[in-house]
Amino acid sequence: MSNENTEEIQQKKSVRHILALSGGKDSSALAIYMKGKIPNVEYCFCDTEKELEETYEYLNKLETYLGQKIHHLKYSSGYGFDEIVQIKGGFLPSPEQRWCTEYLKLKPYEDYIGDDPVVSYVGIRADEPHRTGYISNKPNVKTVFPFVEDNVRLEDVERILEESGLGVPSYYKWRSRSGCFFCFYQQKREWVGLLENHPDLFEEAKKYEKIDPHTGERYTWNQGESLDELARPERVAQIKENYEKRKARKANAFKGNQKLKDVWGDDSDDGENLSCNICHL
Ligand code: SF4
Repeated sequence: MSNENTEEIQQKKSVRHILALSGGKDSSALAIYMKGKIPNVEYCFCDTEKELEETYEYLNKLETYLGQKIHHLKYSSGYGFDEIVQIKGGFLPSPEQRWCTEYLKLKPYEDYIGDDPVVSYVGIRADEPHRTGYISNKPNVKTVFPFVEDNVRLEDVERILEESGLGVPSYYKWRSRSGCFFCFYQQKREWVGLLENHPDLFEEAKKYEKIDPHTGERYTWNQGESLDELARPERVAQIKENYEKRKARKANAFKGNQKLKDVWGDDSDDGENLSCNICHL
């Protein structure tokens, strides 16, 4: 690593070095990349208890590879996701009202850090200029981005994971990000992936959706479409077809222009690569 500040901080014995894992490819690759380079590193994972089974399996494999425990941090408020939804009268989180991240990811992480001086290692890549990741306002936390410092890009992350023997988590076959099985940042084709790979979890996600009998207000994970509507065979076929068309269009549009592809080359449903920079690294 080339950043002098990071090296200076690493030499101070009282400083804690924490690498938070999301169960996704970038933070996992960062842990592998930094293995042996960070003194007294602590690994942690903010566990919402609504994660995919594949995520837990992958973290177990990673733990074995790293030869060190990954601390699972649970909500510290005493209330899990289901209790909070109830308190909020069934109001589901959304990109605009992201209370789930605050209660189930940020708070447990900040409680774990406490007031100790901390260097927090974040897996944002050099080819993700549009992302910022977890940046604490706490004065005792310094956030560092080793992949940005060392110009590590997507192809490097894939190579790191491949060479470690771990590969990418298996959910990447049908989903592009880590996080809760019902995450509202999922694209429509990922909801279809959940339906096809984990029908039981799809049913679980459906149970959170409600229609207020008095006002007619709908509490759904996707704006304007319930999971019942999305799961209709004709709608599933349409979502798959749209996805394939979009993929082909984008492959053409970004041909030979890597810089453009870095910024806009996602495969989201609406052209915006919306995601949570805390949950999806
Ligand atoms: S993964 Fe999605 S649903 Fe889960 S805490 Fe993060 S933003 Fe919320």
